[in-house]
Amino acid sequence: MCLGCGESQPKHKLLRVAKDNDGTAVLDLTGKHSGRGCYVCYNIDCFQNAMKKNKFARSLRIKNFPGELANEITAEILKGKSKPDEK
Ligand SMILES: [Zn+2]
Repeated sequence: MCLGCGESQPKHKLLRVAKDNDGTAVLDLTGKHSGRGCYVCYNIDCFQNAMKKNKFARSLRIKNFPGELANEITAEILKGKSKPDEK
């Protein structure tokens, strides 16, 4: 489920953010990270909406969502817009 719009999407349409063992949030592009994870659509509106409400930090149970990671995700979403649908 996307943290921004709250809609369920197939996994390949979502970007996963996971929490590392040491408590840092990481972008999980493979979807195989074992830590606690949350999802957002490949949609910049969804991401910004989730950021505004601090949903990532809350969902991952971390204090602060790193700005660097936010930039990384923004770049990935903008890039992902041209990502073809997988079957
Ligand atoms: Zn969404």
